[in-house]
Amino acid sequence: MPDTMTSNSDPAAPDHVTVAHGDGIGPEIMDAVLHILDEAGAPLRYETVEIGKAMYEKGHSSGIAPEAWEVIRRNPAFLKAPITTPLGGGYKSLNVTIRKSLNLFANVRPTKSYTPFVGSVHRGIDLVIVRENEEDLYAGIEHQQTAEVTQVLKLITRPGTERIVRYAFEYARAYGRRKVTCMTKNNIMKLTDGLFSRIFEEVAAEYEDIDSEHQIIDIGAARLAAQPELFDVVVTLNLYGDILSDIASQVAGSVGLAGSANVGPRVAMFEAIHGSAPDIAGRGVANPSGLLQGAIQMLVHLGHAELASTIQNAWLRTLEDGVHTADVFQSGLSEREVGTEDFTRAVIERLGEQPNKLEAVSYRSGGIEISTPEPARADKKLVGIDVFIDWSEGDRNPDRLGARLEEAAPEGWDLKMVTNRGVKVYPGGIPETFLTDHWRCRFVRSGGENTSFDRVLELLRALGGAHLDVIKTEHLYTFDGERGYSLGQGE
Ligand code: NAD
Repeated sequence: MPDTMTSNSDPAAPDHVTVAHGDGIGPEIMDAVLHILDEAGAPLRYETVEIGKAMYEKGHSSGIAPEAWEVIRRNPAFLKAPITTPLGGGYKSLNVTIRKSLNLFANVRPTKSYTPFVGSVHRGIDLVIVRENEEDLYAGIEHQQTAEVTQVLKLITRPGTERIVRYAFEYARAYGRRKVTCMTKNNIMKLTDGLFSRIFEEVAAEYEDIDSEHQIIDIGAARLAAQPELFDVVVTLNLYGDILSDIASQVAGSVGLAGSANVGPRVAMFEAIHGSAPDIAGRGVANPSGLLQGAIQMLVHLGHAELASTIQNAWLRTLEDGVHTADVFQSGLSEREVGTEDFTRAVIERLGEQPNKLEAVSYRSGGIEISTPEPARADKKLVGIDVFIDWSEGDRNPDRLGARLEEAAPEGWDLKMVTNRGVKVYPGGIPETFLTDHWRCRFVRSGGENTSFDRVLELLRALGGAHLDVIKTEHLYTFDGERGYSLGQGE
């Protein structure tokens, strides 16, 4: 029997795994998974940390005690059962905190259908979503700017994108997959999503052995729901990836059967995609399969591909034999409805067996190394400024605002346009455009010359002096002569 005792010795060893039993059904499914790993002979040593509800209740707003970080940081893998996030304000998502603190930049979610043994909308689904895990709208930088308008910053970085895209191609290579599809909305967000898709093209050119394609996210998501068998590896931005992975799991019918990996340069966290299921906690009926799938991803990640295959094939055989927990049990398809313990025993009994009808797996160890991208440099020139103004005088006539801005602007500054929610309303707006109290006023230097921060301050002082309520600014730069900002709609 392998050693599965909690241990503090030899902390840097590659087979040390941090374990958190979580809340709700967490402890039941974690016990089941550790039992299967033990019986399969996994050479792992575990260190247990407490996270979740009890920690939130002790006043740790992120659901984790400070001393647990030390354990999580020193072990290469973290197997985490779901936790219950308390309702109400003041609590921070533990998952988001762990991902960002530990630099877990890649969220990897395999999705498979197991028809005809588990009901599914489609047959033959076998895809992996590789979701960027730290950037995009999830940076959480939000502001209310006027009485009517709120904003969130969508941050897409060159190194962040390069890392996730490279990870997707390396993953495809390591796991014998043939194609990587990138999904963005680069037709609308030309700078942010455009950067992501451009880097995808650059990186794809280095992987001649893997097919690559780009799809606009809206039609891509529709195709993923209607014809998921067309996809192999999908790489995408954080928000799109969040939505796509739920669509994929739902159409595969495997929400309760899917695991997920959050991978970083030093530590990786593995879990089920479902929550703590408080409605069935303590009843011994929970399906441990999602967490088991996370544990199987962990074994491959730690270099135990053969062992991972043995457990996966035993699990497939169990599904195929119709031994099902209540959440996937369907009369006609299933043979026997079992609780957590019996299901676990059924998997253990089948260790060493292969599925007969479902395709047996044979994982290869995928030690994926992604180096930190080189810092980017460019010749940056300040050519103008977008000044955002809170203004709602009278009937909000853009021509009146335009005239006031032109009158207030000092010599050498030209007002290029005013937009409201991105649409040009001055000069030459049309009366039908809906107007809020939030105006973006684009100023450039007369004659198109470069400008300086001092000149920008001069402009802002002049606008303030004319009682115009400046709420924020965005500098307009060129990088190596290329425009680093979007044009207004209608500009
Ligand atoms: P949930 O996934 O816990 O449950 C949804 C439904 O699926 C429930 O009916 C539940 O009984 C069932 N279910 C889920 N997992 C199951 C399993 N393994 N076996 C059998 N049935 C299963 O989602 P929820 O009810 O929206 O959330 C419950 C709690 O979990 C919330 O506090 C939420 O914040 C938390 N949550 C945690 C994580 C995480 O820790 N990674 C993820 C999602 C939700």
